[in-house]
Amino acid sequence: MHLIQGLMPHSRVLDMGASAGSFAANRNDVMVVRLDLEKPHAMAAGWYVWGDAARMPFATHSFDLICSNHSLEHFHQLEAAVREAGRVLKPGGALYVAVPDATTLTDRIYRWLGRGGGHVNAFRRPEEVVGLVERMAGVKHRRTKTLYSSLSFLNSHNFVAPPPRRIALFAFGNERFLAILNWALRSLDRHLGTRLSRYGWAFEFGGAGVAAAQEAWVNVCVRCGAGHSEAYLRRKASVRTVLWFWERYRCPACRGFNLLSPEAPG
Ligand SMILES: [Zn+2]
Repeated sequence: MHLIQGLMPHSRVLDMGASAGSFAANRNDVMVVRLDLEKPHAMAAGWYVWGDAARMPFATHSFDLICSNHSLEHFHQLEAAVREAGRVLKPGGALYVAVPDATTLTDRIYRWLGRGGGHVNAFRRPEEVVGLVERMAGVKHRRTKTLYSSLSFLNSHNFVAPPPRRIALFAFGNERFLAILNWALRSLDRHLGTRLSRYGWAFEFGGAGVAAAQEAWVNVCVRCGAGHSEAYLRRKASVRTVLWFWERYRCPACRGFNLLSPEAPG
């Protein structure tokens, strides 16, 4: 989570709808609180609190940074939860929101596979999210980044419960199959101008001076979902040619098998 790098020592960060932890807490001098309704199957570093995002058990102006990483689409009381985020955020604090675009192939597969998959709110345009957050949380929109899909929710390495039978259509979550599928979708997007490999958007609100702009990464790991630039992967991840048109790399974060996609312009 790049926004954590810009925080002052002893800052407090809220992971809103954290599940097992929606980002790595990679600083020892920052306090990370993870809020979720349910106890997760695994826990990342940080303090866990079980509670309702629509009625947060925190004092007003408690946090320097709030991250809602793929959680707003799950909240039944969406407006109340966003209003609460605005309440517990310190004046001048930053709010990060990432959500799926409900019109994308990825979100359709997710909802089809999991018969809804717990997505109760559908966002179809970035303006909807910006308007909601500015209105309910009272923080100003600063930037939007496109997020690309990695289909990591289909990867058998990530199953914590037996997957639905429909997973058979995706080679039972075989990682190499999914790497090829990702590569194919990105190739179609590049050549035909489709948006099959899009996942959604990441928004930054408030927090003047906290954030540094970041590029949109096309290469997103099929196992852990970490994004990397093509240049970084070529430097660090020992890219090897498999066939003349396929280059593979092992994810620097989790060692997952991926095929490299050239970065599309724009
Ligand atoms: Zn990875």
